[in-house]
Amino acid sequence: MNILTLPLGPLGTNCYIVADPAGTAAVIDPGGDADQVLRTLADRQWRATHILLTHAHFDHIGAVAELHTALSLPVALHPLDLPLYRSGGGGRNYGLTFEIGPDPAIALDAIATVAVGDLSFEVLFVPGHTVGHVAFCEHGHNAVFSGDVLFEDGIGRTDLPGGSYATLMESIRQQLLTLPDDTAVYPGHGPATTIGRERRQNPFLATD
Ligand SMILES: [Zn+2]
Ligand SMILES: [Zn+2]
Repeated sequence: MNILTLPLGPLGTNCYIVADPAGTAAVIDPGGDADQVLRTLADRQWRATHILLTHAHFDHIGAVAELHTALSLPVALHPLDLPLYRSGGGGRNYGLTFEIGPDPAIALDAIATVAVGDLSFEVLFVPGHTVGHVAFCEHGHNAVFSGDVLFEDGIGRTDLPGGSYATLMESIRQQLLTLPDDTAVYPGHGPATTIGRERRQNPFLATD
């Protein structure tokens, strides 16, 4: 499994391009700069089959429309984040407007996994940062793409519309901390980490 991290868009949000050995790829959270995604795919001769969205904040969806126009990829999103998606992900509050992508073709409450070539992403429902947030876990390669739920030494904000601290903590404990310690965590912002490191060192997850 090949994982490329591209910090894109107004906040430098991590977009991940994840490909199997044959070059069949998913684009996770393209927050802007569609040209960079397209160039990367072309350079590697990878063929993207899906746009997977962890949630619908503007900094994770800004390039969806352009990528969809260029590549006709189905967009996958949890339906509870659909109103946020259709309203531009809250970007207007920051004066950011962009073309909003097509309605998602794949509803992530209805399926347990998304197959991308040889890869299989389990959909983990992890609300709390937004109401329809999911994470994508590739169990065979011990990797989880966690969006804005769990970061190195941090957790997602819960002060935005739809946020809930109690729900977020329950999502982290039940869906993420139950994964093996050596599971790599690829978050929406900042460096990659592991479940084990965050279980031991993340100040927001300390138990007494
Ligand atoms: Zn977010
Ligand atoms: Zn974000």
